[in-house]
Amino acid sequence: MMSEHANKASAFIRDEGRTDWHDQALWFVRKKRDIQTKKVDEWETLREIASGIKANVLANLDTYLLQFEENALKNGAQVHWAKDAAEHNEIILNILRSKGVKKMVKSKSMLTEECHLNPYLIENGIEVVDTDLGERIVQLRNEPPSHIVLPAIHLKKEDVGETFYQYLHSEKGASDPKYLTEVARKHLREKFLAADAALTGVNFAVADTGGFTVCTNEGNADLGAHLAPIHIASMGIEKLIPKQEHLGVFLRMLARNATGQPITSFSSHFIKPREGQELHVVIVDNKRSEQLGRADFRKSLYCIRCGACLNTCPVYRRSGGHSYSYIIPGPIGSILSPGVDLKKHSAMPFASTLCGSCSDVCPVKIDIHHQLYKWRQIVAEQGDFPAVKKISMKMMGFLFAHPSLYRITGKMGRVAVKIMPRFLLYSKLNAWGIKREVPQAPPQSFREWYLSQEKYKHK
Ligand code: SF4
Repeated sequence: MMSEHANKASAFIRDEGRTDWHDQALWFVRKKRDIQTKKVDEWETLREIASGIKANVLANLDTYLLQFEENALKNGAQVHWAKDAAEHNEIILNILRSKGVKKMVKSKSMLTEECHLNPYLIENGIEVVDTDLGERIVQLRNEPPSHIVLPAIHLKKEDVGETFYQYLHSEKGASDPKYLTEVARKHLREKFLAADAALTGVNFAVADTGGFTVCTNEGNADLGAHLAPIHIASMGIEKLIPKQEHLGVFLRMLARNATGQPITSFSSHFIKPREGQELHVVIVDNKRSEQLGRADFRKSLYCIRCGACLNTCPVYRRSGGHSYSYIIPGPIGSILSPGVDLKKHSAMPFASTLCGSCSDVCPVKIDIHHQLYKWRQIVAEQGDFPAVKKISMKMMGFLFAHPSLYRITGKMGRVAVKIMPRFLLYSKLNAWGIKREVPQAPPQSFREWYLSQEKYKHK
C-alpha cells in the first residue's frame, strides 16, 4: 500500500507540465542562492558561527528564555507562555476578547499554521486576514501554504488571477502580475486600516535586549504592527539568540539562503510598544522541549526556516508541498514531524533520496539527511512500516546474508528483465516502473566483470 505522501505526490506529478515548472521555479531559487553565497567569502565561517550560536542557545535555553522574558517585561511587553498549540490559541483569543477585537491582520508565521490559529479564531468570531501576498492567496483558496517561505509556489499567475476574480472581483482572465499585485494591495490596505490587532511571527528574539526581529519582503508585518493598537508576536522557544550582535550572522544568511537576496527587504526590530499600544509576546513550546530531549534530533531546532532545504530537495521539488502530511514540508518538516506524531508522520522520513543536498545548503549545519535516516530506523523498530516494505526488507536482508543465493537471484533477475513481457514487467507490483523505464540488464554482474579482469584473474 502506498503512503499518503506517495499517493498525493502521484496526483501532483500527473500534471507533467506543472511538475516541471514547479521543479524549475524552485531550482531557479536554489541557483540564486548559490550565486549569493559565493559572493560572501566567509560563508562557511558564517555557517560555523551560526551553528555554534544555536548550539549554545539550546544548551542554555532555560537561561536565555528567562533573560528574554525579564528584558521584554522591562521594555513594557507582556509575556505569555504556552505549553502547546491549544494554550497558544487560547491565550491569543483571550487577549483579543479582553479588548473587544473583531478583526486581526497577521503576517507570515509558520508557528500559527502549526497551531491552526486561523480556523480557531474564525470559529470564535474573529476575522483573521493573512497579509503576506502568498499567504493571502492560499488563505482565499482555503489551502495550507505549500512552502515555508513561498507559500503559493504551487500556483501559476493564471491560478492567482482566477482566485482574485472569484474572491476579490478582479477582471476575469487577468494574469498580469502587476495588475494582480495592485488588486491585492487595495484589498489588503482596507484590511490593515480596519484591523484592531496585528499578529506577527518572530524570526529572531534577542535574549539580552528582550526585543525581536521580523523579516518580510512586503513590509506587511510593519504596517500591521504600526497601525493596530495591539501587537501580538508568536514565537517558538527555539527562536532565541543571545545577543543583538548575533543578528548580523543570521540576517546575512537568511535572505541569501531563502530567496537569493542579499538581505530581506524589511528587517523590523521591535523592542517596546509605542505609546498607547499593547505588545504581547507568546512563547510556545508545542513539543519542542521533547525534541530537545532527543539527542539525535536536537539539532533540528537550530532551523531558521530559510526554506533552502526544500528548494534543493529533488523529492520536494517534484512532489509539491501539499503531498507532505505536516504543515512544514520538505526535508526539515520530515525530521520535525515524526517528533510531533510518529504514527501520523511515519512516511515522512522516507520522502527523501538521502542525497544530502539539504544538509549541504543548511545555513545552521543541521545534519538533515542523517536525521532522516535515523527516523527511518525508529519507524522500522516501532513497527510503523507498511507490510510490503517489511517483507521485502526481510527478503533482501536474507539475500544479502547468503551470497550464493544472491548471485543466483541476480542471474535470474537479469534474464527475467530481458524476456519478461512488458505487461508483466510494468504491472502494479512494480511501483518503480510507473514513471520510469527499467534499465537494460547488463550481461554480467559487477562481481563477474571484476573477476574477469586480467589482473585479478590469478588472485
Ligand atoms: S533545515 Fe536548514 S536549510 Fe532547511 S529551512 Fe531550516 S535552516 Fe533552512
